[in-house]
Amino acid sequence: MKKIHRSRKLENVKYAIRGRTMEEACKLESKGINILKLNIGNPAEFGLKVPKKIRKSMKKNIKKAGGYSSSKGIENARIEIKKYYEEKNVIGLDIDDIYLGNGVSELILVSMQALLNEGDEILIPMPDYPLWTAAVNLAGGKAVHYICDEKNEWYPNIEDMENKITNRSKAIVIINPNNPTGSLYPKEILEQIIDLAKRYNLLIFSDEIYDRLIYDNLEHISIASLSEDIPIITFSGLSKSHMAAGFRIGWMLISGNKEHIKDYIQGLNLLSSMRLCSNVPAQHIVEKALKDTKSTKKLFRKGGRLYKQREYIYNELNNIPGITSIKPKAAFYIFPKIDTKKYNITDDEKFILDFLKEKHILFTHGSGFNYNNVDHFRITYLADKKQLKHTIKQLKDFLKTYKQ
Ligand code: PLP
Repeated sequence: MKKIHRSRKLENVKYAIRGRTMEEACKLESKGINILKLNIGNPAEFGLKVPKKIRKSMKKNIKKAGGYSSSKGIENARIEIKKYYEEKNVIGLDIDDIYLGNGVSELILVSMQALLNEGDEILIPMPDYPLWTAAVNLAGGKAVHYICDEKNEWYPNIEDMENKITNRSKAIVIINPNNPTGSLYPKEILEQIIDLAKRYNLLIFSDEIYDRLIYDNLEHISIASLSEDIPIITFSGLSKSHMAAGFRIGWMLISGNKEHIKDYIQGLNLLSSMRLCSNVPAQHIVEKALKDTKSTKKLFRKGGRLYKQREYIYNELNNIPGITSIKPKAAFYIFPKIDTKKYNITDDEKFILDFLKEKHILFTHGSGFNYNNVDHFRITYLADKKQLKHTIKQLKDFLKTYKQ
C-alpha cells in the first residue's frame, strides 16, 4: 500500500508535554519500571478527586444527559457561569456569549480556527502553554512570542509585546494565572495589555483555567473586568479547580463590544454547531461546581495540601546548587532555572531524558513551552510530599555528577 503521510498543516505543530519524553516514559513503563510522572497537570493521578457532591450532581442528572444539548451547552450551566463572572466584575454578559466545550483545549482550537487566515499573527506568551502556539499554527496563523520576564515575577514584558505587534497581528493571548510559571498578573499589567489592545485594535484571549487555584490570599483579576469595550474571550473550566480533567468540561465567554466581532462570533457559532455539543453529563456539574468554592480553597490556603507542596518544592529547589526558581502564586507548576554552564547543558530535552532514564521521574523541558533557551524545566508538584521528597533527593543525587 502507498505510504500515508500526515497533513502538511501539522508541520509546525508541536505538543512536547506528551511528546518524545512521554513516549520514553511509556517505554520504560512497558518494561515494568514505575515512572513518577511530574510532567502533566492531571490531579486525579495524584489522589486528588472530584468532590463527592459534584460527582453526585452528574449521577443525578445522567438520565437527562443522553441527548445532544444546544451547541453552546445547557442553560443552567451557562447561567451559573454568567453569575460567576459577574461576581468577578465582568459586566454586560449574556448567556448567549457563553460556550461550553470539551475542556478549554477544544475551545482554544475552535477559537483559533474561527479567527485566522494564512499568516495572521497572534501574540503568545513565552513560555506558553504549548496548545496555544500549536492551535495558532494549525489554523494557518503565526505565533509570535512575547517575553514573560523571570526577573519581574514572570509578568509579560509590555514593551516587548508592543514591539512585536505588526499589521498582521490580530490578538494577544495571556495565560493568567500562568502555566508553566505559576505567575499571577497584577492589575497594572492587565491594564497595560488592555491599552495595547485598544491602541492596536486587537482582540484579547485570556486563559484563566487556574483562576481559583491561588495561594497567599491573593486575588485573581479577570482582564475582562477591566474593560467594557475591548472584545475579550475568557477561558476556564473544571479540570483543575475541581480535579475533573477526565470529565472534559470547560467554557469560553465573550465580553466587550460584540458589534466589532459579529462576523467572528458567527464563525464561532458555526464551528460549535458543527461539533454538535460538548459532553453533556459533564455540563451538568458546572452549576454545583461553581457554587462550591470551598473544596479548592481548602487545598490552597496556608496548611492546605497544595500550599504545603508548593512551599516544600520551592524551598528545596532553591537549595540545590545551580537551581533557582520564582515562587509560584497560583496553580501547581514551578519553572526552575538551571545553570547550564555548571552542568554543561546544551539540550534541555536531553537533560529531561537523562534524568528520566536514570531516576525514573519525568519533568518537562522548558523549550517544550516554546521557551527560547535551554535553561528551564517544569515540575508539576501535584504529587504528595513523600513523592516530592523522593524527587528532590533524586534530583540532587543526579546533579552531583551530571554533565552533558
Ligand atoms: N490552558 C492551560 C493554561 C492549561 O494548563 C491546560 C491544561 O493543563 C488547559 C488549558 C487545558 O485544559 P482542559 O482540561 O480544560 O482542556
